Amino acid sequence: MPDKITVGDVTAARGELKKGVIKGVELVNNASIDIPVLVMNGAEDGPTLLLMSTQHGVEIQGVEVIRRVMREEVSPAGLRGTIIGIPVGNPLAFMHHQYLSWIDNLDVGRERADRPEGNTTERLAYALWTEAWSKSDLIVNIHCNTRPDSLVYQWINVGNPDTREQLERMAEAFGVTTIVSDSRLTDDAPPSLGNMAARKGIPVILEELIDGRWISEPSTSVGVRGVLNIMKAFNMIDGDPEPQEGIPIVPGVNRSHGIIRANRGGLIRLLKKPGEFIEKGETLAEIYDLYGDLLEEVKMPVDGYVWAFPCGQSLGTSGSLQAVQTGANIAYAFTHEED
Ligand SMILES: [Zn+2]
Repeated sequence: MPDKITVGDVTAARGELKKGVIKGVELVNNASIDIPVLVMNGAEDGPTLLLMSTQHGVEIQGVEVIRRVMREEVSPAGLRGTIIGIPVGNPLAFMHHQYLSWIDNLDVGRERADRPEGNTTERLAYALWTEAWSKSDLIVNIHCNTRPDSLVYQWINVGNPDTREQLERMAEAFGVTTIVSDSRLTDDAPPSLGNMAARKGIPVILEELIDGRWISEPSTSVGVRGVLNIMKAFNMIDGDPEPQEGIPIVPGVNRSHGIIRANRGGLIRLLKKPGEFIEKGETLAEIYDLYGDLLEEVKMPVDGYVWAFPCGQSLGTSGSLQAVQTGANIAYAFTHEED
């Protein structure tokens, strides 16, 4: 490992914690919208771990997780390797309290990350890729569902042999409900941050905390414990991983079944809890109109569970109101595959 680590305008020598920015984009009034970054260069050699929060601008629990890990829990003297912390991955979304970039309604995690000459959000993605993602060995991408009763879960794609073993090790260490998929990366997959990382053999685990618009428990403690557990599992800090507590966990291997959508519009009442077993055909929610008449009984499509009730549009800010329109995503369903 080189003695100095540079990310954006930050250079951290061995044993140092430094802060600064990755240069972002310039607005019409010449305000510079940059990406904040913390870099902790450990006293000894080890992997480079990237912690990124708030790819979606209304999901802020990870900001606090990164603060506690990098400002309270871990010191450069006790660290083997490097931590890069990005508290807000999309400042254009965060600054307007929006899920997506306000300026072009795009998602920095879904747009191309290989175009320095691209559109506004693509340029942010390119900056994230060149300065942080491409320099990392392990990436924890911290998101949040909105409601406080959602299930804390993590998603890993085990379809790529290059990253499978490391992702399974990260998930076991973090220790919350795990949803797996195994889609192989195809040649024509768009060069988003996640796909470019997969191509380069960098494992990216997606963590979904809960109550995402607030900084609150249990999300922050679960997030901090999970990140420290990953660091212990990869020998970046001393200590044994601690089991997660204070949250419901569906153990073993689980698989996403898909989104359950509304076929009618109106207010919605939720009859089941995230993490509670629901039989195929059971009613999990009811949609009713402003007169109080029942319009739709929403049925569970499979024996399984729900991890969250976003009750929102598919791409806009989810979970803003307990109301839906036709096509809104009511719930994310998953099935339990093996213990
Ligand atoms: Zn998100």
